[in-house]
Amino acid sequence: MSDVLNVPEIFGSDVFNEATMKQRLPADVYLAWKHCVTTGSQLPLDVANEIAEAMKVWATQKGATHYTHWFQPMTGITAEKHDSFISPTGDGRVIMEFSGKELVRGEPDASSFPSGGLRATFEARGYTAWDPTSCAFVKDGSLYIPTCFFSYTGQSLDKKTPLLRSIDEVSREAVRILRLFGDEETQRVIPSVGAEQEYFLLPKDLYAQREDLRLTGRTLFGAQPPKGQELDDHYFGTIRTRVSSFMKDLDEQLWRLGILSKTKHNEGAPCQHELAPIYTDVNTACDANQLIMEIMKKCAAKHNLVCLLHEKPFDGVNGSGKHNNWSLSTDSGKNLFSPGKTPSQNARFLVFLAAFIAGVDEYQDFLRCTVATAGNDHRLGANEAPPAIISIFLGDELNGIIHSIIEGTNYIEPEKSMLRIGVDVLPAIPKDTTDRNRTSPLAFTGNKFEFRMLGSSQSIAGPNIALNTIMAEELAKFADALEGAKDFDAQLQKLVSQTLMEHKRIIFSGNGYSQEWKEEAAARGLSNLASAAEALPTYASDKNIDLVTRHGIFTEEEFRARYVIHMEAYNKIVNIEARTMVDMALHQIMPAALHYTHDLCRGMESKQKMMVSSRAEKALAEKLSAGTDALYDHIESLRFSLGAVPKEAVSAASYYHDVVIPAMQDLRREADVLESLTDKSYWPYPTYSDLLYY
Ligand code: ADP
Ligand code: MG
Repeated sequence: MSDVLNVPEIFGSDVFNEATMKQRLPADVYLAWKHCVTTGSQLPLDVANEIAEAMKVWATQKGATHYTHWFQPMTGITAEKHDSFISPTGDGRVIMEFSGKELVRGEPDASSFPSGGLRATFEARGYTAWDPTSCAFVKDGSLYIPTCFFSYTGQSLDKKTPLLRSIDEVSREAVRILRLFGDEETQRVIPSVGAEQEYFLLPKDLYAQREDLRLTGRTLFGAQPPKGQELDDHYFGTIRTRVSSFMKDLDEQLWRLGILSKTKHNEGAPCQHELAPIYTDVNTACDANQLIMEIMKKCAAKHNLVCLLHEKPFDGVNGSGKHNNWSLSTDSGKNLFSPGKTPSQNARFLVFLAAFIAGVDEYQDFLRCTVATAGNDHRLGANEAPPAIISIFLGDELNGIIHSIIEGTNYIEPEKSMLRIGVDVLPAIPKDTTDRNRTSPLAFTGNKFEFRMLGSSQSIAGPNIALNTIMAEELAKFADALEGAKDFDAQLQKLVSQTLMEHKRIIFSGNGYSQEWKEEAAARGLSNLASAAEALPTYASDKNIDLVTRHGIFTEEEFRARYVIHMEAYNKIVNIEARTMVDMALHQIMPAALHYTHDLCRGMESKQKMMVSSRAEKALAEKLSAGTDALYDHIESLRFSLGAVPKEAVSAASYYHDVVIPAMQDLRREADVLESLTDKSYWPYPTYSDLLYY
């Protein structure tokens, strides 16, 4: 049985992980590396040289001929440029070489990535620096070295650098709190993330026939098929053979790369699936999620499938998101969002919980912005995904506890209160406060928060930078208030109950999809930024800039650059979609409908000669003619609207949202009616039935 996969043996076999380093590096070099990683200090060049040599030997044994500094520019996907290990010996031959300098630093130039104005052309060169905290790996004949990407002037041009900064920051502030609870051991607190990834798979040949899918990743036209997802027969259903062999192949590739792919199943919509990895530290989780998305696409192609990561490939069935399960734990593995057994542990738990609640309430808009994209606009608030309003779901039991803490301060004298948070009297908090409220954007699920607003195609870096930073901010405030308190218990009691009181408006247990919630949220003063065009202009607010610069996550320029890039991306995406629609409507849909109408009329003519009734043809031809006339008008309006887009980015975004998108919807509606009237053999591309029920 040689084809049985030995998972423990292949797991991580293509990764230069800690075990491999321990095995292949001299003990002092390994320890020097370990020291740098745990203390965040710089790696001496002689150590880097030894690591580079060991990496090269290991990688070439795995068939690598090249190395690449792998980085995560602000496009949201990854970038790589490959150099071979060859070095001439002077006698017409080569040897394979790789130095510490080449490992640690690269100059990919890469001047064509969006920089949001951070790089003028005269200083366009970009640099990469090795991130020794995330493992190098071999893939497709190259040694991949995870790196940070920055400009000549040292400004971050990527998503990894600010993520690493936010990890350090939340760790620093969390450790301050732990010290107050008498924890002298913990050196680092680490955000952990498990990101559940949804995706669609379609047959490659059908996909190739649709310009909208090829250019924009989603269908811009398509009449509703007779069957949608109303029977719920796909969710967790039997996985078809072609898909399951894709999944098997995918898992194997991910495992080789040390990615903890754990769960796979069919999702709600036809052709929709999900992959969930086991959670890990957020830096690794972010690298892994990028690899998962990339390998899903490549692996699908091998199986004659196409993997769609778009947030809304099809109208009428669910779109795809990414659930970002986030928690904090100590370097010895203690989860700080786990309600404990003792009152002291519970007090600590409540401090972290209160800080989280305060941070989310205070920085709702910031969090909202991190998931604001053109693609995600189709999901958020569309009754299949969380609303655009941020709120936190805690579950009944935790809600009860929080309310009694708040009320305790109000109505019961602290001495008599049964719910003193102090270290002595606190009821045990039940552990299984699990949640099944799927309408909540941010749910507490026992020992972690599940942030459910992420789009399926986006990098998880942005939302996690925000979660780490707002948490650092609130923990810092708490630490400031508690350090040096005369009566720690009393001060803690006051702080937690006051915080909960001030921020309780963000807690909501009801149906997030309902109209009443929108009204109630407005009454509570919660923000409701319904679209990316509304959300993104709030991104670079003074309040957010103050937050991120104070914690050293971004400089003001770096942060503004992200804002510019997000705005531009939104505008460009809607523009491409609109132009694709005009193109398809004019060159494919209109001709098909006209052709069919023409043939109907020809048929009528010959029937009339034979004195045969042609009532059906006439009725159809008339409907089609009215439809093509209307289609023409809508093409013209959309074209006209595209000619009048304002130059300035914020005005352009609201123009796209208020004028262009409605014109796109009008055009689609008309085209879909024509599709439903036209003989299928005339229709220029596969229909929803063809695509979703292949
Ligand atoms: P769901 O009910 O949403 O499908 P699961 O129980 O399958 O949730 O878990 C979802 C994800 O949460 C998985 O990736 C899992 O590894 C991750 N997860 C579990 N515990 C934690 C934790 N403490 N911190 C972060 N992520 C976690
Ligand atoms: Mg989930």
